[in-house]
Amino acid sequence: FRITEDRIMNYPNSKELFERASKVIPGGVNSPVRAFNSVGGTPVFITKANGAYLWDEEGNKYIDYISSWGPMLLGHAEPDVVKAVQETAANSTSFGAPTKLEVEMAELITSSVPGVDKIRMVNSGTEATMSAIRVARGYTGKNKIIKFKGNYHGHGDSFLIEAGSGALTMGEPSSPGVTEGTAKDTLNAEYNNLESVENLVEANKDDMAAIILEPIAGNMGCIPPKEGFLEGLRALCDEHDIVLIFDEVMTGFRVDFQGAQKVYGVTADMVTYGKIIGAGLPVGAYGGKQEIMDYVAPTGPVYQAGTLSGNPLAMAAGYTLLKKLKESPAVYEELEKKASVLANGIGQILKKYDIPHAINCVGSMVGVFYCEGPVETFDDANRTDKELFGKIFHGMLKRGVHLPPSPFEAFFLSNALSSEDITNTLTAYEETIAEITE
Ligand code: PLP
Repeated sequence: FRITEDRIMNYPNSKELFERASKVIPGGVNSPVRAFNSVGGTPVFITKANGAYLWDEEGNKYIDYISSWGPMLLGHAEPDVVKAVQETAANSTSFGAPTKLEVEMAELITSSVPGVDKIRMVNSGTEATMSAIRVARGYTGKNKIIKFKGNYHGHGDSFLIEAGSGALTMGEPSSPGVTEGTAKDTLNAEYNNLESVENLVEANKDDMAAIILEPIAGNMGCIPPKEGFLEGLRALCDEHDIVLIFDEVMTGFRVDFQGAQKVYGVTADMVTYGKIIGAGLPVGAYGGKQEIMDYVAPTGPVYQAGTLSGNPLAMAAGYTLLKKLKESPAVYEELEKKASVLANGIGQILKKYDIPHAINCVGSMVGVFYCEGPVETFDDANRTDKELFGKIFHGMLKRGVHLPPSPFEAFFLSNALSSEDITNTLTAYEETIAEITE
């Protein structure tokens, strides 16, 4: 395999922009992973995107596997979404007063997904999870929450706690700025290990407000729940009056229109959403059973608000995308097929070149780990060969395939990917692996 000259990407404009950005924006980016810290080099600056493709400042074209970290399930600049945003914007971009669109959005979601009687719109996934645990605490009158090592729920203080293995119950802050007072109320359990949760509940059962998790972990690659794990959490929460929160910011409307709740047949008490429900505009949402959601202000005492919450542009974009998805369930089958062609192809190449690997795939979420499997926990995922990932990332980038720049992110497929795009991706992958192992 050879890299043809015209497919080698050059990005001097991006490099210059990154230098300028680094002087005025921390790390040159507005969200850390974009800085390429875990793969080395400097990020590519994007000017436009359409369907499954991105274009950078130099005009280089890339097949996109970031999909804006999830929202672009039908690809970029989806014509109906663009039209809805344009038409809505012509009537102003925000009112700070209720709109029909918000009602339609809430009706669409509550009538579609299990266990969500009422839903509140916010502006990001972070706001959604932060608000959900506040409501769970207000509802139960208890303080502590359990989260899982390697799960990500945004950057709310309560979630930036990653206890090391020897200190699983200590809740030490893993980000400076998070107070010890906050950290002590977050307990970390091991994903896919019910016993680790049972032990924490047993030791803290009088003060346990909520268990929050990604029902399919997508922020340590892709790790599906083992059989019985979600059911076990459900039973534990029922037994001890703990609010079970599924963080479906990533999985919601991606693995199925009804999310992971439908795929695994387990219904949570509260669910958080983001990404796809905003079609690329800043949106999050939290919802759940009526008796819990009635604790939210102004009906109930738990305060939560937002100047731009339920923003008309975001509602127009999200509603249009969700409606399209609801009306075309075949999208999910198509995405799943594309993901499995990609995952199988990658697996075959890695096998051919004798590279240890494990690939986890649920719907259109694909996690490639460069280590022996199975990968079922954060500690397993952390064994992935990060240096090799970095080399593969750059080999793909220069061949025109933009993977997420982190070894702990799943590939985000969009249904705009054609089978030719996937074939080209696999060709680039094999060229890259051949080059690395030369
Ligand atoms: N929850 C999950 C599962 C996520 O994947 C993310 C973001 O990647 C968040 C919450 C936070 O969402 P946001 O980045 O919109 O604040």
